[in-house]
Amino acid sequence: MKVLFPGSFDPFTLGHVDIVKRALSLFDEVVIAIGYNENKVGWMPVEERLSTIRRLYASEPRVVVESYTGLTVDFAKEHGITAIIRGVRTTADFEYEMQLADVNRQLTGIETVFLPASPQFASLSSSIVRELAHFHHDISAFLP
Ligand code: ADP
Repeated sequence: MKVLFPGSFDPFTLGHVDIVKRALSLFDEVVIAIGYNENKVGWMPVEERLSTIRRLYASEPRVVVESYTGLTVDFAKEHGITAIIRGVRTTADFEYEMQLADVNRQLTGIETVFLPASPQFASLSSSIVRELAHFHHDISAFLP
């Protein structure tokens, strides 16, 4: 079975790597989908996120990397995917993810699987990495 791992991945961190690794133990194929808004400029251009993540999984045929705009469930349906995987770090993540998962299931029947963040990555977020980079700190310890 195929699972969709959607996110902004701006940038793709070790926390994301951990979710993909664990998703591969549960599903046959993981489609990493970089969602972006055409009207909003990201920190890292979408094309660069795409090529960086593709390079990372170049030797893993069970991982596919795509980008999309619009609703995640529309992308999932277009690609014949019926399950979404998301990482959950905090109770705030959980509340937001519950709402998303519920709406997505009501709209399309697509189910969401939550993976609890591994403790060593539970405080890691793309926004913290961007903040550190903004102030010229070395972010290499947080990236694959
Ligand atoms: P979004 O903008 O959709 O939240 P992100 O790129 O921030 O996109 O995150 C994508 C997914 O990865 C989300 O499910 C998020 O909870 C999860 N995630 C992000 N960082 C971590 C982490 N350190 N550990 C586990 N899951 C994470």
